[in-house]
Formats: sequence, C-alpha cells, structure tokens
Amino acid sequence: MNTVDEKLQSILATVVHRNAGEPEFHQAAREVLESLGRVIARNPEYSADALIERICEPERQIIFRVPWIDDNNEVQINRGFRVQFNSALGPYKGGIRFHPSVNVGIIKFLGFEQTFKNALTGMPIGGGKGGSDFDPKGRSDREIMRFCQSFMIELHRHIGEYVDVPAGDIGVGAREIGYMFGMYKRLNNRFEAGVLTGKGLVYGGSRARKEATGFGTVFFVRSMLALKGTDFDGKRCVVSGSGNVAIYAMEKVLSLGGKVIACSDSGGYVVDENGIDLDLIKQIKEVKRGRISEYVALKGDGCSYVKAGSIWDVPCDIALPCATQNELHGGDAKTLIENGVIAVAEGANMPCTPEAVQMFKQAGTLFAPGKAANAGGVATSALEMQQNASRDSWSFAKTESRLEEIMINIHDACNETAEEYGAPGDYVLGANIAGFVRVAEAMRAMGVI
Ligand code: NDP
Repeated sequence: MNTVDEKLQSILATVVHRNAGEPEFHQAAREVLESLGRVIARNPEYSADALIERICEPERQIIFRVPWIDDNNEVQINRGFRVQFNSALGPYKGGIRFHPSVNVGIIKFLGFEQTFKNALTGMPIGGGKGGSDFDPKGRSDREIMRFCQSFMIELHRHIGEYVDVPAGDIGVGAREIGYMFGMYKRLNNRFEAGVLTGKGLVYGGSRARKEATGFGTVFFVRSMLALKGTDFDGKRCVVSGSGNVAIYAMEKVLSLGGKVIACSDSGGYVVDENGIDLDLIKQIKEVKRGRISEYVALKGDGCSYVKAGSIWDVPCDIALPCATQNELHGGDAKTLIENGVIAVAEGANMPCTPEAVQMFKQAGTLFAPGKAANAGGVATSALEMQQNASRDSWSFAKTESRLEEIMINIHDACNETAEEYGAPGDYVLGANIAGFVRVAEAMRAMGVI
C-alpha cells in the first residue's frame, strides 16, 4: 500500500471510530475515499491542512424533539434532524426524509453524498440533509399537517434562503413542503420563497421539479447508452419503488421508447409484461396514496403481484433502483448480470451495496452512481431558487431543457474525469473525483474554517 492509500485508510478509520454505529455513513465515506487516491497522488495540496478530514466532518448537526398531537388526542414524540454538511459552494441544500428508519447516521450519509452531488451540478449549492423518524404511512392529512408544523417550529431557526434550503425526499412531497412553508412564513412573517424547494406551482414552485430526479436519471442513462451506440428503444426496464423518483423515471423511459415491465413498493412488486400502466400507478400512488398490490385487481389479466421477493429477479436490459439505500444486493446483481442487464442507474441514494457495485464493474455493466444519476432533482431545485430570486417562473419546456443540459454535462464530466484518471467507463470514480475537486478547490480558497 502506498502512503496516499495509507493516509486515506487512516482518515476512514477515524471517521468510523468517531461516528460509531452509523454503517451507512461509513459506507458512503469509504466509497468516496477509495476514489481519491489517484487525485491526491497527482495533487497533494488537496490533502493538506486536513482538508479531507474536514470534508468528512459535518459543519453542524442539529437534533431536536418534535412533539405533536395525533387524531386520538394522544401526544406523540418524534426526533428531528438537520445535518448541515458543507457550505463551501453555497447554502446547504438537500432534502428532508420522513421514514421510521431515519437516524443521524442515515442523515449524515445522505448529507455527505449530497455535498459531492451538488458540486457535480455546477450550481452554487452546498450539501445538507434532514428528516425525522416519523412514519407518515396511515396518518391522516391533519396529522401530517400538525407534524410538519411542529417540525418547522424548530427547524425555522436553522434555515433560510442564504443559509440552508431544504426540499423533499422519501415521505416528503408537495403536501408536506406546503405545510412546512406555511409555518415558516408565519413564524418569520416574511414570504421567503427561496427557503424551501419543491413548492407548489401557485406559490413559487418550479415547473418540472416534480419530474426532475426521475427524468434526470433517465437522461443520464441515455448518455451512457449513446456512448455505446444504443438507446432506450424497445429496451425492457425494471424500476424499483413507485414514489416520486420511480414514477417520473418510468415516464421518461416510456417517452424514449423503452418498456417498463415492473415496479414496486416496500410491500412487493408488480410485473406487467404488456408494460406497466403508468396512469394507473399514478392514480394508486399519487391520488389514493395506496399500495402497489392494488394494481393487479384494477388492471386485470396479464400482470402479477409478488409479495416481498426481489424485483431484480425480473429479467431486464436496464435496471433503475429508485426506492432506498442498500435495496440491491450482491445476489441481485448476480441475477441481473446473468439475465443480461446492460445498464444500472441509481435513481435512489446508494441503493446498490458495495458488493453489487463491484460486480457490475467486473461484468462491464454500465453503472451510474446516485450522486451523478439522481442529481437532476437538486439541480432543478437550484433552478427553482434562481426563479424565486428573480421573481420569475419559467415554462416546463425551458426548465426541462436546462435539466437535460445539466445532466449531459454531469455525464460528460464523470466520463471525462474517469478517463483522465486512467479508469475509462468508471462513473463511480469519475463522479467522486469531479465532485470532490470542486468542493476541495473552494475549501482551499477559504482557508481553515
Ligand atoms: P418517495 O417517498 O416518493 O418514494 C419512495 C418509494 O420507495 C416508495 O415506493 C416506497 O415504498 C419505496 N421504499 C421506501 N423505503 C423502502 C424500503 N425500505 N424498501 C422497499 N421500498 C422502499 O421517495 P422518493 O421517490 O422521493 O425517493 C426515493 C429515493 O430517491 C430515495 O433514496 C431518495 O433519497 C432519492 N432521491 C430523491 C430525490 C427527490 O427529488 N425526491 C432526489 C434525489 C434522490 P413504500 O411507499 O411502501 O414505503
């Protein structure tokens, strides 16, 4: 092992020791640090002044109590988090997740990833993430409202247009953003549109924000396929999840001529060899807030529902994991490879385990890491901030075309950086180095802070 690798190993050991019991954060840090050996060997200044140690330490972590009253008049207590990871490139920016699995380690991993993702977009945004262990499933609209209001009563002290700009994530969509924005506005007595993104269109939201993460992931895959002389036309696609990212990934796949065979939620997956009926999925998920299992009864013949099980058993050309972290394991990767998968792109954050990623690399499968492939969401959030700052509202076509351009640029930056560092086709290495270099340059310029 050379001295650069030894140095990085020692930094990783400190991260693991200092953040005990946070395996997702260790996993995210390990993946980035493993990519940095080549860039530091070439540019030793990037590891001077403990720059890498500083990049691995969040600037600020806030943990707070969220008390609220449910429909039975019982007091409930949840825990709220906001990790403000890195503001070298701009105000902290990253979503809020409501899911019972949320803890500080998960929020930290997401904030760390977000820092490099945001750098890759080329927009002036730092990295952060937040959330709560609140489970919105089965809660009434009034309960959701009261929870969001209580969450914001604390969070409002820590955010702002020039400080930290949250958005949605798992369990947080336009409804929750609306309730949080309302309480922020009331507490601050100012209409500060740029404090949250993912807002409704009537009060400062951006067209194409809802679609952006899923569309962006598919634009990224289109660029990868184009380099190999192929496209989506007639390709069988499997998309995990049926939330915001999954639904709009499916929509763009369909518009580019691909066929979506299967999608899922945390209960199981549906397979429809005639092609998933996306309008029906939207009806079930966006309107009724129901379960994917309802698809079969509503659609009729030709489709099936598999309770639990792995959606990656369904043979496909293109796999888009769009649900949650570590949902695609080594065994799933093996099955996908044996079934001839050409490309895998992470619409979700870190959905593939390190073992799965390694297997895709070895098999020569095109693999797009989340911090590059799903960056279209945050990029369009930054476009929303731009529209808010100029009190403007762009057309869908203009916003989508900016998103498309950004995704092409991210793809090309990852691809060219991988080539420059002697690993052509390694989008993981390319994304990590390209994102890191931007953050590192800004941090170096600002001194030890
Ligand atoms: P949603 O809440 O809209 O949808 C999440 C989907 O994933 C649901 O279908 C949900 O099923 C499923 N899911 C969640 N947890 C699990 C689990 N443990 N096992 C199986 N399925 C699960 O979230 P989003 O679509 O917004 O987010 C999906 C992923 O994309 C996350 O990793 C998020 O961090 C990432 N992302 C999101 C962005 C955005 O703009 N929204 C931007 C960039 C990344 P169920 O309803 O049954 O829980």
